[in-house]
Amino acid sequence: MKQTLQPGLLQHKKLDELNNMDPFDFQEEGCKCTVTITHIPQDNNWWYIGCEKCKKKTTDDSTPFICSKCGWKRLRTRYKLSFAAADDTAKANFFCNDEMARMIVRRNCQTLLNSLRKNTDFPPEL
Ligand SMILES: [Zn+2]
Repeated sequence: MKQTLQPGLLQHKKLDELNNMDPFDFQEEGCKCTVTITHIPQDNNWWYIGCEKCKKKTTDDSTPFICSKCGWKRLRTRYKLSFAAADDTAKANFFCNDEMARMIVRRNCQTLLNSLRKNTDFPPEL
């Protein structure tokens, strides 16, 4: 029988519990943890250019681009957002991938980059 995920029923954990947990003890379906983002490093590392298909990061800006891993020909900018966050029990450093960052920021990475004068600027939206 196929199990369905019911996000509302995920176990809620406090940050200090997660910090002290053995990674092998994490339940497969994950758990929920409510935190407040306290700090985002304002460096130029919040985005990268990668293969649209396999997400492999590339520094190859030759055109036409061909992904060395999967052979895909299109690039896309993606988030690789790291931040510090805390709840009332602890602080921790987080990293979120492009999908997760888009849910948090509610804009895609390219939209934010387009709004900057230089792509080395740090977007105020973040
Ligand atoms: Zn690829």
